[in-house]
This record gives sequence, structure tokens and C-alpha cells, in this order.
Amino acid sequence: MMGATTSGEIRAHNRVRLLRAVHDCGAGRTRSQLTRDLRLARGTASVLVAGLAEDDLLHEEPAREHARGRPTQVPGPHPRGPLALAADVREDAWELAACELGGGTTVLELRPHDGTPDGALRPLGAAIAAHGRRLGHRVIGVGVALAGPVRHGGLVDIAHLGWRSVDVPGVLRSGASETPRPGDPEAPRPDGRGDQEAPPWRLGEGVPGAPVVGNDTAFAALAEARRGRLRGVRVGLHLHVDFDLGGVLVVDGLPLGGASGTGAEFGHMPLTGSDRLCPCGAIGCWGMDVGANALLRHVGLAYGGGRGRAQAEEVLATSEEAVAANARALGRGVAALVNAHDPEVVTLSGHGVELLERAGATLKDSCAPGLMAIRRDDPPPIEGSALGWRGALLGAMESVFDAFLTPEGLERWRENHPDQGHDTPDQRNVTHSTMKGAEPT
Ligand SMILES: [Zn+2]
Repeated sequence: MMGATTSGEIRAHNRVRLLRAVHDCGAGRTRSQLTRDLRLARGTASVLVAGLAEDDLLHEEPAREHARGRPTQVPGPHPRGPLALAADVREDAWELAACELGGGTTVLELRPHDGTPDGALRPLGAAIAAHGRRLGHRVIGVGVALAGPVRHGGLVDIAHLGWRSVDVPGVLRSGASETPRPGDPEAPRPDGRGDQEAPPWRLGEGVPGAPVVGNDTAFAALAEARRGRLRGVRVGLHLHVDFDLGGVLVVDGLPLGGASGTGAEFGHMPLTGSDRLCPCGAIGCWGMDVGANALLRHVGLAYGGGRGRAQAEEVLATSEEAVAANARALGRGVAALVNAHDPEVVTLSGHGVELLERAGATLKDSCAPGLMAIRRDDPPPIEGSALGWRGALLGAMESVFDAFLTPEGLERWRENHPDQGHDTPDQRNVTHSTMKGAEPT
């Protein structure tokens, strides 16, 4: 530990370590296992757990199964504990979820949109503000994943939708400010419970402030590194397939973001010999040949603009030819990137999982000839993500918890909870955890 010398600093440091360990293991390890993992004295662990429980940060439940002897406790999220709001904005819809310590997520809303920045982001901003008010000071931050390159500060370009330098935090904020707040003259008063129902809450006013905005592929890769197949992998390649394909290299658990944050763009490399013009402005982009748009194009259906998801899923399920063409293009590109980066493993999320299941042999057969001779004896495995479509959402969540799980973040939480006894947010929609994802309530 660096710089922690006083007993108070050491305690603050150990609080962060313990919460981080609970979060990273999915709240699935017992107190004694965590005590051993973190090399803590048993007494120290007891004091830490008690303090964190008092601060509404941790709650222990008896282990479901334990050997004879004393029941074992499993530290997990507190029922009034911190929540990250995470959103995945796809080209045709967005999904908003509340995520608790340990990674349990509950979907709050899932809504289609018209593909414009205002049509997609203002209602999302309003939903974030509404749920933020309802959940009050439990909300520790907001993470938003978008299907395009995101520059530092949250400026996003989504070529397929014609978005250029869209100020995502700004549009979210303007959407948030459109909803009446409790206490505003026009706001409906909560039935019989008055203004103590929830504190006023606006996007950007909470802790720690501005939303964390990032690229969906980079977030999916981050989630894969924390909770999926890339956990503990030093160099991995992650590819996320939706309407088109995105890819990023993950080194020591972190997606390489580039100098301005827009580095995760393997989909815009000319890896398949195509001469098709990509909406990004370049010619022959790999992403033109892999994903829902390519599936639709293959069978002669209209494509682009974030339309046609249902039809593309139908093609994916029924057209072997279209699936094989997608898989061949995917395999050729993977070979090029494996030659360049020498990853230990290649992971696929989104439609990539289905392409692998439906046409894995075709994919690998078209990858093999593109590999350098020195790579052929022991090529990296190509594997589907266990997180499926949840990766981008979970990665957005991780970014929020990364900012929170620090001595400063926990101190802010304490300062914002002067009297936890009165904290009774409505939990009707945030009651259980599931990594598989719940239906919207
Ligand atoms: Zn392109």
C-alpha cells in the first residue's frame, strides 16, 4: 500500500480492499475466505465488516452450504447500499439498470429510440433523473455505453446514425432537466408522503458527478476482464458484434483506449479485402462484413441506421449462407489481429457468440490460413463471452464502482449519509441480483 501510514489511513485502505474483493468475486466468497485472500487478521476483518455494515456498505448472509461447525457468513451488498446506474445505448434502443456491489444488476427500463441524439439520449436522461430521485443518495454514479468512438469528455460519433461530436453528458442533462423534481411547483406530490420521499436529484449533481461515458466494445471488454473469460489474462482480444463489429485489445485487464479515448476501433480496419464505403468515411472496413447489417445485406434486405434487429436475428437463425459469410469475414479479421497482437485468447460478445455457435468451424477454418506460420501450431482459442449481451452494461457499471471504491469515494459516501436510519428508498424495482439480467419491471 502506498502512502498509508497512520492507522486511520490503513483502515481506510483496508475498507477499500475488502469492498473491492467482495465486488470482484461477485459477493460469492465467505468472510473467512476473504480474510485469507487479503491476509487480514481475523479480528481486523471482524472490525472492518462491522464498520462497513454500519455504513450501509456491506451486509452479511449465512452461506447456503457450510461444513459442520459455526455457520459461515458471506459478505455482500447492503440492502440500502450503493448503486451504480448503468446504461447501454445501442443503435435502436437503450437499456438502463441499477447495479449493486458484487455486480448484481436489475434492469429498470428498456426503450426503443429513433436513432437521433435527442430521441435516444433525452428520454434516457429523464429516466436516469427519475430513478436517481427515487433511489436518492444510494446512487453513486452513472455509466453510459455507446456504439461508437467516445472522446474524453463524452463526445461521441456514431457513423451509422449520422452522429458527429454529440455531447452525450450535455444531451442527457437537458433530458434530465425536463422532468419535474419533487419540490418544484409543477411536480406531482408523492401520495401522502410529502417531500421527504426523495431528495432532489439531477444528473451531475450526485456523487461523483458527471456520467462516465464510454465505448460499448471497450466496456464489454472491461467486463470480460473483470468477470469473464479475460479475467487474469495478460493480453486478450475482445470483439463485440452488434449491427457491426467493434474490437479492442485488453492488456493487464484494461482495454487500450488510445490517446484521445477512441482507440477501440478494430472494426474500421480494411481486413477483408472489401472495397465497400463505410459510413465512417473509410473504405473496406471489417465491420461492414460482420454483424446485423451484413446479415441483412447478404439476404437483400434494407440495412443501416440501426434498423432491422428482428429481421437480422431471423437471418442469423435461418440462413446458413449469410451466417457462413459473416463467420468467414470474422475469421479473416481475427487472423490479422492475432498476427499483430499475439493474444492469449480471443473473446466474442453480442452476435459473436451466436456466430461461433452456429458456424464455429467455418470461422476457425477461415482464420487458420491467415495466421503466420509461427502462430499456427498454437493459435489462441476463440471463445464466446459468458456475459453475452450484458458486457457493455456491466463495463459501464465497473467504471462507476472504480471511481467509488477509493478512500475518497467511501468518505464521500459517509458524509452523504449523516443519518442512515432515515434512508428508506423505494426498492420495489431493485430487489434482487442476477448476472443473467432480469426482465424490465
Ligand atoms: Zn469504417
